[in-house]
Amino acid sequence: MKEFDTICAISTSLGVGGISIIRISGPKAVSIIKKIFKDKDGKVVNQFKSYSIKYGYIYKLNSDEVLDEVLVSFMKGPKSYTGEDVIEINTHGGAFITNRILEESVLAGARLAERGEFTKRAFLNGRIDLAQSEAVNDIINAETDSSAKAAIYQSKGIISNKIKSLREKILLLTANIEATVDYPEEDLEEVTAYDGIKKITELSLEINKLIESFKEGKIIRDGLDVVIIGKPNVGKSSLLNSLLQENRAIVTEIPGTTRDIIEEHINLDGILIKLTDTAGIRDTEDVIEKIGVERSKERIIEADLIILVFDRSSQLSKEDLEIIESVKDKNFVVLLNKSDLNEDKINIENIPELKDKKIINISAKFGEGIGTLKEEIKNMFFSNNLEVSAEGITNLRHIEALIRAEESLNAAVDTLKNVSAVDLASIDLKNAYISLGEITGESTSEDIINKIFENFCLGK
Ligand code: GDP
Repeated sequence: MKEFDTICAISTSLGVGGISIIRISGPKAVSIIKKIFKDKDGKVVNQFKSYSIKYGYIYKLNSDEVLDEVLVSFMKGPKSYTGEDVIEINTHGGAFITNRILEESVLAGARLAERGEFTKRAFLNGRIDLAQSEAVNDIINAETDSSAKAAIYQSKGIISNKIKSLREKILLLTANIEATVDYPEEDLEEVTAYDGIKKITELSLEINKLIESFKEGKIIRDGLDVVIIGKPNVGKSSLLNSLLQENRAIVTEIPGTTRDIIEEHINLDGILIKLTDTAGIRDTEDVIEKIGVERSKERIIEADLIILVFDRSSQLSKEDLEIIESVKDKNFVVLLNKSDLNEDKINIENIPELKDKKIINISAKFGEGIGTLKEEIKNMFFSNNLEVSAEGITNLRHIEALIRAEESLNAAVDTLKNVSAVDLASIDLKNAYISLGEITGESTSEDIINKIFENFCLGK
């Protein structure tokens, strides 16, 4: 195991709460806590038993001044989260006192940890691999059942094991190919071009299956970007409210939310739907409105799905037609709202852009047709009952590595088909092996590793 310095951070979110936890990890964790912690009788604790908790007080360094009444737990390395000695101080949850104790830990010899540094240590110490580390962050950021479940599978190493098994197969095949070429006289399994093509194609298909799983996996992890669009007064806000009533997801913060674009998160049977109510996209001279229109256009470009809303009780106007024109190349469903009014004046039959589109009658006001809309969204994006697959890929970085691996394998097959010198394929096989290793961290550059952990919160 590598020797690192000792780091500390507040691991709970900083605010007023029941408790806060300050975590210290590294070779000096125990000696640091001994300097600032005494038991209930005011005695220095000499023995910390692994997986035990001690009750007592944190003192100002080199003084008798008590800072807080705490519980201190100890996990001895290597059987701890980071693989090192880990101390966790449970304090009364207040920002001031928590920060004071953190300060005291630093004065006693710890260094303030960087973002994600505890998990990074777990990775560098070989407790978990890179994909599992990323899963830790995904668990923290999960907003629905499905995204949490997918992240848990990944943190347990299910994806990693799959990748490792693929790498082993590639390695074995490469070794056999090289042995065939280098030691033809030895009694080793000989690989012909025909065998090579067959085996590599099988591997490539396995990888392709993983790549295919990303279509759903991405949505499971990141949610679906859905934009509601329609001219003023057709009932967009009413629709948003109707969807939010039963399904609002728990969201702490949505960065970038502006007055002109409202983004709300709903939980649709475990899938996160990020709904944007746009400001409209009409031509305008008003500067502020122009900004809103530009943002709406960007959202439309990025969206996975557009919900186009019309008022069923009136005829399509020029503005409606412009809106149709603006989304015609996107994936969209059409809602005819205000169906409760029983006034069917809308004339959509002759609009070619709407020909093959799903048209749903709704009443946003009374919540009618909302169920059909939800079913339609599920049908459009999920093949099988929203089951989270244990081997489903949810991470864009992983998919990019898988695509590179697949390309290398396909190149190996091409080589074998064109030239029957089997050894030429081994370079491509090695590339595939390296690409897969980027997922689990065996062949990932330090820059990428640092970038991954920079996305973590402090204290994790
Ligand atoms: P937005 O400008 O597109 O966001 O439209 P709003 O949701 O603000 O609705 C505009 C008006 O239409 C309001 O007076 C709503 O009460 C009404 N409205 C919205 N949906 C329905 C509906 O399904 N039925 C009826 N009768 N009125 C509706």
